[in-house]
Amino acid sequence: MFDVNRIRQDFPILEEKIYGKPLVYLDNGATSQRPLPVIEKMTEYYLKYNSNVHRGVHYLSNVCTDANEEARRIVQRFIRAASEKEIIFTRGTTESINLIAYTYGEAFIEEGDEILVTEMEHHANIVPWQMLCERKGAILKVVPFTDKGELDKEAFGRLLTDRVKLVGVAYVSNVLGTVNPVREIIAQAHRCGAKVLIDGAQAIQHIPVDVQELDCDFFVFSAHKIYGPTGVGVLYGKEELLNQMPPWQGGGEMIREVRFEKTTYNELPFKFEAGTPDFIGIIGLGEALKYVESVGMEHFAGYEHQLLEYAMEQMKRIPGMRIFGEAACKSSVLSFAVGNIHHSDVGLLLDKMGIAVRTGQLCAEPVMQHYGVTGMVRASLAMYNTEQEIDIFCRGIEKVEKMFRL
Ligand code: PMP
Repeated sequence: MFDVNRIRQDFPILEEKIYGKPLVYLDNGATSQRPLPVIEKMTEYYLKYNSNVHRGVHYLSNVCTDANEEARRIVQRFIRAASEKEIIFTRGTTESINLIAYTYGEAFIEEGDEILVTEMEHHANIVPWQMLCERKGAILKVVPFTDKGELDKEAFGRLLTDRVKLVGVAYVSNVLGTVNPVREIIAQAHRCGAKVLIDGAQAIQHIPVDVQELDCDFFVFSAHKIYGPTGVGVLYGKEELLNQMPPWQGGGEMIREVRFEKTTYNELPFKFEAGTPDFIGIIGLGEALKYVESVGMEHFAGYEHQLLEYAMEQMKRIPGMRIFGEAACKSSVLSFAVGNIHHSDVGLLLDKMGIAVRTGQLCAEPVMQHYGVTGMVRASLAMYNTEQEIDIFCRGIEKVEKMFRL
């Protein structure tokens, strides 16, 4: 059903040589590669249609406007949102969360209110809430996780009181790979009257998402982690909620009428889209989602899971290997340490073998503190990775381990 060799042909970069060695790209959690249909679509728009959206009366502007709005409908379909008004384009997950923290915070958060996040969040789902808490005198509370990398459900139940106004949680941890039980979290939070934001940055490319079935209030992700371009993100919010939130940035497109006495604002989704959007990037995102639909997540999700299990099994045979995060439900992220070897040394030596991994704090310092480490090495998989690449990767780590043992 799923032919990885066929898929790899869509990603020419995978044929590149690094220091004369075949590229083994295992940094997909940071950013994925883009397939030819995305690159070609964006090139076509730059070559033939480039013109600013929403403002023009002329042909090219209308072509770009239509394609921009078509991309919105593709996103709506992809995450099963009820209306295209609920799809707001941003610059990425980070901007989506900041937008919510600012505007939802402005409308609904008061002194003494609580925001609940988890210990395994990316900094993008921590810092905007801290900034909001500072502005409003609200309090940030944190749900801890166990050493296995699973959220402490009992602690979550205890921390979830009627003072909590919003729960922010990653669907998939970018360090531990843990797939959090977001359905349960959302239901539980709603019973307490709290809204829920799901950070889908590491989930959207691996797990089918139905925002209506999940019943989340907000869902955010970045295009560049799901085979689309950088510079584009999505903020999904329930229409009723978005309507109650004030705009964020002011400028063109987000207004209805501008008078020096009083300005009125545009309707959704434009109310939150001030200025010229990255419309060719947005068109690229639409194409990326169409690409994922054409391959079929139902086909490649099983393959990715198999690859993850294979990688875990192979890695565990390496002397000194310590894998961080072994949740019962885990996605394609493998963070690890090898003996006492510094994470940068592992990363630099793997790089010399053509293997791209990420090292350091992975934008999740609290996770590093949990395990008492200064950093980790992270391999993150995509649908185009192969068992052969996992073998090269594991042989590479073995080599590094031996070098440091001598
Ligand atoms: N949340 C998670 C879980 C992530 O993995 C990332 C990207 N590493 C982000 C948020 C931030 O995404 P971006 O940098 O595209 O805004």
